Amino acid sequence: MEDVVIGVDLGGTKVLAGAVARDGTVRSRFKLLTQELKGQPDALLDRIAEAVRGAADEAGMTLGDARAVGMGVPGPLDLTRSVVAVAPNLGWGSLAVRSELERRLPGMRVFLENDVRATALAEARIGSGRGHHALLAVFVGSGVGGGMVIGGRVYHGGHGTAGEIGHVVVKVDGPVCPCGRRGCFEALTARDAIIRMVKAAVARGVQTALTALVREGSLDNLSSLDLSRAVGEHDDPLASQVLKRSARYTGIAIGGLINLVDPDIVVLGGGVVEAGGQPYLEVVTRYVRRQVLSSAAAGLPVVLSTLGDESGLLGAALTAWDGLGEASNP
Ligand SMILES: [Zn+2]
Repeated sequence: MEDVVIGVDLGGTKVLAGAVARDGTVRSRFKLLTQELKGQPDALLDRIAEAVRGAADEAGMTLGDARAVGMGVPGPLDLTRSVVAVAPNLGWGSLAVRSELERRLPGMRVFLENDVRATALAEARIGSGRGHHALLAVFVGSGVGGGMVIGGRVYHGGHGTAGEIGHVVVKVDGPVCPCGRRGCFEALTARDAIIRMVKAAVARGVQTALTALVREGSLDNLSSLDLSRAVGEHDDPLASQVLKRSARYTGIAIGGLINLVDPDIVVLGGGVVEAGGQPYLEVVTRYVRRQVLSSAAAGLPVVLSTLGDESGLLGAALTAWDGLGEASNP
């Protein structure tokens, strides 16, 4: 039997588990919906365990054949990577996820990572950042997340939460962020910020293809896909404009960190970035380069993520290999 681990990508509405070989090849995928389990940690943990068994089954193996389980969790973890401090999307407060899952999967070792940091790890090892020493990954979508991978390892900081780039303030007295503060990177670039800008423009009488594209005709439902279609199929000036504005703040926020972190590559992903594509990347790159002090870093590559939907699963699997002390060797 080939060496595999089970990776688990835990989102707000579904759990995706898959058997993943050491080289990053995905041998099986098993998805379960979890939407109705928000605020019920025991039931959700049961379902995660069910998805893990399902993934083993789909790969034609028993759970005992897997070396370990790795999971990406949408919330900050403690320094021992065992306890999730809080996961608002799941309705979780502080929860000992590692021991709870190990109890449900007898004989299995479970290793956890924050989901965005796991994705950054996958980009560093097998994605756009492969071959680089110091990677900064930033994902702009419904929220903003990030991660640093240095020398092949996720940098966790002093309290386990390094990488929460979404709450770097980029505009004093700017719009209110979901975290309660004002002017955070997330409050100026993520989907809600874009919805706010589009609604304000429409209220001023600006015409846009977006009003016809959004679900049920409500701009509150504006998705990254709607933005992508407005730009790609309708050449919509407002959609381009709001994406450019998002990109500008993304560039400013990343630029502010460049001189501290000195990465040798920046990887960008997430729904908003995907909707903006190459023009988004160009604006970010311009603002990042403007802030770089060292001439050595002037050519710093800023690239799009390439792993797509599978990056969370792969990052979770890499977390399991690392937890076993056996870095994968793709
Ligand atoms: Zn914030």
